[in-house]
Amino acid sequence: MFSAIRPRLASAVAKPAVLNAVRPRFFSQAAVARSNIASLHTFTEDEQLLRDTVARFAQEQVLPKVAQMDEAEKLDKDVLKGLFEQGLMGIETEAKYDGSESSFMSAILTIEELAKVDPSVSVICDVQNTLVNTLFRKYANEDIKQRYLPKLATDTVGCFCLSEAGSGSDAFALQTRAVKDGNDYIINGSKMWITNSGEAEIFLVFANVAPEKGYKGITCFVLEKSMGVKVAKKESKLGIRASSTCTLNFDDVRVPASNVLGEIGQGYKYAIEILNEGRIGIAAQMLGLAQGAFDATLPYLFQRKQFGSYIGSFQGMQHQYAQIAVDIEAARLLTYNAARLKEQGKSFVKEAAMAKLYASQVAERTASRCVEWAGGVGFTRELPIEKFYRDCKIGAIYEGTSNIQLQTIAKALEKQYSS
Ligand SMILES: Cc1cc2nc3c(=O)[nH]c(=O)nc-3n(C[C@H](O)[C@H](O)[C@H](O)COP(=O)(O)OP(=O)(O)OC[C@H]3O[C@@H](n4cnc5c(N)ncnc54)[C@H](O)[C@@H]3O)c2cc1C
Repeated sequence: MFSAIRPRLASAVAKPAVLNAVRPRFFSQAAVARSNIASLHTFTEDEQLLRDTVARFAQEQVLPKVAQMDEAEKLDKDVLKGLFEQGLMGIETEAKYDGSESSFMSAILTIEELAKVDPSVSVICDVQNTLVNTLFRKYANEDIKQRYLPKLATDTVGCFCLSEAGSGSDAFALQTRAVKDGNDYIINGSKMWITNSGEAEIFLVFANVAPEKGYKGITCFVLEKSMGVKVAKKESKLGIRASSTCTLNFDDVRVPASNVLGEIGQGYKYAIEILNEGRIGIAAQMLGLAQGAFDATLPYLFQRKQFGSYIGSFQGMQHQYAQIAVDIEAARLLTYNAARLKEQGKSFVKEAAMAKLYASQVAERTASRCVEWAGGVGFTRELPIEKFYRDCKIGAIYEGTSNIQLQTIAKALEKQYSS
């Protein structure tokens, strides 16, 4: 073994001239400076401006309402109005549909900034942008875009209705049916766990038009509440309590065939593609949550004294918060990298799953540590820390559980290493 390798090593060492010829190109600082290579913390002027605006909006208009919304399990009307007024409910939507026409990274930064203050408000904005608007923008015809995108960007909440009582991780086992009747479809069935459904007027509903074809019958329909969508039970939840999560019932709901979004039987493909992107949004929500919990806790470590010293000055504490800072930065880089890959039209599915998985783990770890670092008061509602701890758990569940993210990552690795 050794003797087989040694001669090759020796011959590499014996040719310094080749290395010297290559070195200047690899190590030239000027070449790097001339290239477009930049840190993942590089943003356009518009992205920076939006991030600052959202941070200000979150501090001034969301923060004063966070505890009250959590307690009441209800989104404040003025907060929702503010999201629309700031252009945060149609971030990527083109200006001709009254949207902000910004980048995907702008949406990610917005979700992160909102989650630093309230992960509930963050997910409301996330679902509207990364799931609902994106489905319309990518797959709807011009007629549907003109009818719905301006409303969604200016004053109307939408929701993404895929999950059912019997189909969660196995989403395409859904039972909601759509039957053609003249120029309409009649929809029967129910959906469960639908974010934003308490406030929504527009519902993107996945139903099967041809159960005999299995998942290839799944089709996406645009429903309006006035068509007969019944918003049933609202869940009382551990966390993100200001975000509504309801069951929806469809009893003979008549929908014009012109409200089929995209092509018949392509719904499963749209759902997969949209959720692949959406996961970067959830990664951003969890990243913002972790940073928000960290920012809310660290000052306390330098105000509280025990044994005559600030608790943040004990090495046992220093090592813990230094490690968490590294974890948060790693989650940030995974999230931003997945977002930039998507923007550049490169393959991003594995990276998005990694970002969502890791950011939700970091959020849980960070929020848990923050409660401990603040001691007894961290366990009470005196400080906002315990809310971050309750809010973080959802990151490992929606838009694909952590096991499902691991499965996605494993499938990509199998493809890479078995071919
Ligand atoms: C607050 C909230 C908001 C939501 N918002 C929406 C929404 O807006 N729209 C929407 O359509 N849905 C929404 N959902 C639904 C959400 O996406 C599902 O809850 C999620 O996909 C998991 O499905 P499930 O709850 O049926 O769990 P299950 O699929 O029953 O999973 C239970 C456990 O089994 C594991 N498991 C399942 N299959 C496998 C497997 N093959 N390998 C290994 N482990 C597996 C899971 O990882 C999990 O730990 C929301 C859910 C919640 C709680």
